[in-house]
Amino acid sequence: VFDHVVMGPEDPILGVTVAYNKDPSPVKMNLGVGAYRTEEGKPLVLNVVRRAEQMLVNDSSRVKEYLPIVGLADFNKLSAKLILGADSPAVQENRVTTVQCLSGTGSLRVGAEFLARHYHQHTILIPQPTWGNHPKVFGLAGLSVKTYRYYDPSTRGLDFEGLMEDLGSAPSGAIVLFHACAHNPTGVDPTAQQWEQIRQLARSKALLPFFDSAYQGFASGNLDTDAQSVRMFVKDGGECIVAQSFAKNMGLYGERVGALSIVCRNADVAGRVESQLKLVIRPMYSNPPIHGASIVATVLKDRNMFQEWTVELKAMADRIINMRTQLFDALRSRGTPGDWSHIIKQIGMFTFTGLNSKQVAFMTKEYHIYMTSDGRISMAGLSSRTVPHLADAIHAAVTR
Ligand code: PMP
Repeated sequence: VFDHVVMGPEDPILGVTVAYNKDPSPVKMNLGVGAYRTEEGKPLVLNVVRRAEQMLVNDSSRVKEYLPIVGLADFNKLSAKLILGADSPAVQENRVTTVQCLSGTGSLRVGAEFLARHYHQHTILIPQPTWGNHPKVFGLAGLSVKTYRYYDPSTRGLDFEGLMEDLGSAPSGAIVLFHACAHNPTGVDPTAQQWEQIRQLARSKALLPFFDSAYQGFASGNLDTDAQSVRMFVKDGGECIVAQSFAKNMGLYGERVGALSIVCRNADVAGRVESQLKLVIRPMYSNPPIHGASIVATVLKDRNMFQEWTVELKAMADRIINMRTQLFDALRSRGTPGDWSHIIKQIGMFTFTGLNSKQVAFMTKEYHIYMTSDGRISMAGLSSRTVPHLADAIHAAVTR
């Protein structure tokens, strides 16, 4: 009965790893997937996470019962405070509902399903370009996906005018997806002043902001700085939605820990919204897993552990920033044609190199360097040892 099933295409991002795994070359590099690596090229489990896990294991009172549909209560409260700020009036007024979801992706999907059922406007505008999974997550939830201009290839920076024009001509009430910080794949974020202009325009047109926060703390190394865009929108008293991921900032990728927060007008609305979120979640996966959320709650709850986390987080962010400088210097010392200053200007885990798909294919074939065909490289996958090889490959690709 399944004979007619055709082979589906590999995921454009995860497929890069599949190809990388098949390559026997000793110099191969995987700069496709956005996962942090140490200077030695190894995955990193944060010390504070190991410590939290140890505490959880040693606590014999802990059992493996189901969590509620909305997840771990402590985790939800602490996650909302982390993104909105401990002193956020929205949190204090109990008008935020937060549900634990399956990492960032699951939070986006639950939010999208809720909007498709309960929000009057089904159009969602997403930046062009954006993370490849966004259009699928929103489209499959039943929203109608449109794009707004975001990136200007000629400046390798923000197309602010295009963005404002496109949001200005969006249908009233449309949902707008924003990357809270460290825009993926471009590494280009609006400035604080630009965010303020975006906020004013969005509010004047009653657009509904939906923030994807996958990199809080990873962009600048500071958790509060990276939450500024979201907090700006919450401060004005209006509604907004936030999908949070702990994959990158706590290194919990495979634990699938995330949260969806919906900021409402008042506590009464928030209660009703939460009741509907439960109706979205129950038939999808009943309730979320307990382990990862317990790790996050343990770390966020304890002052010392929280402090330790911020230090480890900053060390990851700083290493990435250092890789930017090293790559930029390596290209300059090779006299590679072109202006590569965007490598040090861009923010977060990725550099949007400006290399085209032919150049990427050349680098993969000749240098065994794997990345997405849009020329995005994960800076977190680089080390001082591997920068020269990458610089050689980029130099060869642009001068051939
Ligand atoms: N949003 C963005 C912009 C991302 O880059 C990612 C991860 N690459 C996610 C969401 C979701 O990640 P996860 O589901 O692993 O938390």
